[in-house]
Amino acid sequence: MIRKKLIRSSRGARTPLATSNSRGRRFSDLASVLAEIGRDFYARGWVLGTSGNFSAVVRHNPLHLAITSTAVDKGSLTPAQILELDERGRIARGHGRPSTEAAIHFAIVRVRGAGAVLHTHSVSSTLLSEVYAAKGGVTLEGYEMLKGLRGVTSHQHREWLPILENSQDIPRLSQAVAEILEQQPGTHGFLLRQHGLYTWGTEPAEAKRHVEILEFLLEVMVRSRAGWNILGEKPQGLRGS
Ligand SMILES: [Zn+2]
Repeated sequence: MIRKKLIRSSRGARTPLATSNSRGRRFSDLASVLAEIGRDFYARGWVLGTSGNFSAVVRHNPLHLAITSTAVDKGSLTPAQILELDERGRIARGHGRPSTEAAIHFAIVRVRGAGAVLHTHSVSSTLLSEVYAAKGGVTLEGYEMLKGLRGVTSHQHREWLPILENSQDIPRLSQAVAEILEQQPGTHGFLLRQHGLYTWGTEPAEAKRHVEILEFLLEVMVRSRAGWNILGEKPQGLRGS
C-alpha cells in the first residue's frame, strides 16, 4: 500500500514537469522553424522590410500560438523574436509585441484547425489582389503546380483565392476572414487587397509548401498577363481575367 502511494506520487510529480518541458521544447522548435522560414521568404523577396508574419500552433486546447513579433526585419529573424500567445492573445512566453495581425492567425487556426499560418507581401500577390479585386478573387486552374496543395491530385483542379478588402481594423478583418473561410471551405488561401497572401497548413512545412505553390502560380499569372498584353492572346488558365 505504501509502495503504491510512493509510485503514484512520484508519477504525479514527474508528469506536469515532463508536459511543461515538452511544451517548451515544442515552442523553441517552432520558433526556430518560423525564424528560418522568415529568412528564407525574405531572400525570395516575399517579406521585404518588416512585412509578413508567421505563426504555428504550440497546442490546440487551450490554443497557444507561436507568432512573430511586430515590426521585425524578416531577413534577420531569430527565434527570440517569436512569442507564445495564449488563447486570448496575451503573451505567455517571450518579450516584445506580437504581430498586429495576430487575430487573423487565430481566426484561421480556429476555423480551419490549421497547425501553421504564413503571410507574405509579395509583388505578385499585391498586384493581382488589386487587378482582380472587383471580381472578388482569383482563379488558378490547369497548372501542374496545383498538385502541391493539400488534397489536390490533378492539374485540372480549380483553386479560387478570395480577395478581401484590406483594413487596419483587425478585429473586423479577422471576423471577415473567419466568415469567408466558413463559406468557402475548399480554399487553401486568400488575398488581402493591395496587401498580400495568407495560407496555412497542418504544420509549418505544409504551410511553407503552400506559400511556395501559391506564390509560384501568382507570379505565373502576373508574367502571363504581361505576355498576354504583348502577344494579344489570352493564355490558358487565366479564367479570372
Ligand atoms: Zn500583412
